[in-house]
Amino acid sequence: MQVILVNPRGFCAGVRMAIDVVDQVLDVFTGQTIYVYHEIVHNKHVVTRFKDRGVVFVESIDEVPPGAIVVFSAHGISPAVRQAAEARGLTAIDATCPLVTKVHSEAIRYARQGYQILLVGHRDHQEVIGTQGEAPGAIQVVESPEDIAGLTIDDPSRLVYLTQTTLSTDDAGVIIDALRQAFPAIKAPPSEDICYATTNRQHAVRTLAPQCDLVLVVGSTNSSNSQRLTEIAENVGTRAKLIDDASQIDPAWFIGSSQRAPAVREGSPTPQRAPTVREGVSSTSQQARSASVEPTQTILLTAGASAPEDLVAEICRLLVDEHHAELFTGDVIEEAVEFGLPVTLKRAMRERGIDPEARRIRVESPSIVKATYGRDAVPLTIEGLSDQ
Ligand code: SF4
Repeated sequence: MQVILVNPRGFCAGVRMAIDVVDQVLDVFTGQTIYVYHEIVHNKHVVTRFKDRGVVFVESIDEVPPGAIVVFSAHGISPAVRQAAEARGLTAIDATCPLVTKVHSEAIRYARQGYQILLVGHRDHQEVIGTQGEAPGAIQVVESPEDIAGLTIDDPSRLVYLTQTTLSTDDAGVIIDALRQAFPAIKAPPSEDICYATTNRQHAVRTLAPQCDLVLVVGSTNSSNSQRLTEIAENVGTRAKLIDDASQIDPAWFIGSSQRAPAVREGSPTPQRAPTVREGVSSTSQQARSASVEPTQTILLTAGASAPEDLVAEICRLLVDEHHAELFTGDVIEEAVEFGLPVTLKRAMRERGIDPEARRIRVESPSIVKATYGRDAVPLTIEGLSDQ
């Protein structure tokens, strides 16, 4: 079995920032109960880990005691939620991803200019609910091309579309094409609303999945980002499974080997950058191993933007230890994005004599170390392996 760890995968800058915010709030407001409005990010493990540290997650501001501390999740909130928090005298720390805030700002601006806004996205998703709340009278949600016939349009020359940040770029393209066909004068947002992290993770899967037998996506079922990765894999004809963690792996998925050649060859063409598989193994030791390795099956391992890397490592350990997997890295796009802490948190920190800049958490790619990713195969195959 060969396992390709695709890059980029897992935490995006917005998720890291939101998790860091709750970490810092727990630290800064020691001894106080911290409330988080909605799941801070859509991942069951992240939420459980914070619950274990005393964080209380609520779905209504009414559940937060007056005067308490509340953190707004990465998905953003509507102004009504902000006002309800103010009315209750809450100390509100806003962990909304700046890329979601950008879409909110566009909605506000276009609504003020008298545009009707068609918001392409999932009606029940927290982000869409928040964005729609910025201009409820001006926004209609479009989930599919079939919704277009039911829209109420006053003036087709004063129309703009915006999108949820975590859509499938494939699906969004189909809906946007249909909107353009129905309303040729419709305006596009000034810059792409589907965020860099969504686009990059989907592009990486779209690039590498066709050469694999199975795609494992680490993420929770309520994570739009993770769901879309499974769909992208299936769209290119590769089986895909969305799993929260290693415990959900069914060994039956690996029965019946593929006859494919090894998954990726160096220099495979891609629109942005050639994916490379780097092997830290000499040809002799590779030949020695191949005699003992089970029939080749190639698995692409990725993770949604809200899935912690330790869950990916746990899956690698299982595949290495129990299925004789060899690990490879498949680098498609380099990411270097970092968001600062929200102004509200920085202010609260300064008020307590804490320098927010000194507490800045660096965003770094995960190091592949054999202690966490698996004992035998890792030293042979992953470039940059350390023995820590
Ligand atoms: S997926 Fe995109 S929009 Fe959502 S938190 Fe991450 S960077 Fe922000």
